[in-house]
Amino acid sequence: MGELCVRSVLVTGANRGIGLGFVQHFLRMPKPPQWIFATCRDPKGQRAQELQNLASKHPNLVIIALEVTDPASIKAAAAKVGEHLGGSGLNLLINNAGMVKPTMLENETLEAMTEIYTTNTIGPLLMGQAFLPLLKKAAQGSPGSGLSCSKAAIANISSIGGSITFPFGWEMVHAVSYRCSKVLSHLCFPCPVPVWVPLLSPFLSHHRLLPVSPQAALNMLTKCQSLGYREHGILCVTFHPGWVQTDLGAAAGQTPPLTVDESVQGMLKVLSSISEKDTGTFLDWEGKVIPW
Ligand code: NDP
Repeated sequence: MGELCVRSVLVTGANRGIGLGFVQHFLRMPKPPQWIFATCRDPKGQRAQELQNLASKHPNLVIIALEVTDPASIKAAAAKVGEHLGGSGLNLLINNAGMVKPTMLENETLEAMTEIYTTNTIGPLLMGQAFLPLLKKAAQGSPGSGLSCSKAAIANISSIGGSITFPFGWEMVHAVSYRCSKVLSHLCFPCPVPVWVPLLSPFLSHHRLLPVSPQAALNMLTKCQSLGYREHGILCVTFHPGWVQTDLGAAAGQTPPLTVDESVQGMLKVLSSISEKDTGTFLDWEGKVIPW
């Protein structure tokens, strides 16, 4: 399996966690992208310190302000990226920014549901729309007829989980808004174990997953994007990054098993190998297909 080779990539939520991990991995590649657009809400603030340090050493890293719930911010970011790229397009858009509120069902609110749905689901939709012209340009400028990530692609970082039938972890955290924003796909296990999203990963290799109705939010959005953008030469895929050691991963108060490096390395390996046949699929960080 070869190294992922892209001329330009944009990562949302790049100031910490998995997003920062993607940026670090791209910078360390033997053939790094010519342009790495690392977006975050406050590029000059303390929370972007690590990105700022990296940008001072790597001229191919450009930090761009982006709030994924704000259409004006997304539009401004797309315009800035377009200016940097000159006449060429954007090869890879990684919609990574996301949030969770580890609330219990009884404490879930209209505000929390709305905020999380807007961030985790509507954000990636708006990003796809705003960056479509640049992605199309990248696809048009690449030789060959098939789809690939080095040509033009959208990778949505989602999550897996069952909700109603799998109460494992339910005692720990309900996170209803998070589940609804990403993970309404119902996964059927031989035993009725309710699972909180990241906790599902250890079970994947031991239990048979049965495909059921695709009523996902971000997952379904990816499917729609794959159908709508295929004719423009853009591959669309959604990832479960595993249960990863980040602020979000530790939100339920337990230490996740996977490091950011392991998760990102795995996803980059998968991104380097996927093609036309994989568009619209839901994969984990090891490339295993997760039934919708
Ligand atoms: P972190 O909490 O470490 O980082 C989240 C990132 O998203 C931060 O950069 C944050 O920026 C950014 N972000 C949040 N809201 C917005 C917004 N409205 N606009 C722009 N940026 C925003 O989380 P992870 O790195 O763990 O998560 C990355 C992705 O992976 C998420 O989509 C998450 O759902 C998914 N995932 C993670 C799992 C895990 O175990 N870690 C498991 C399954 C899925 P800021 O610093 O400004 O808050």
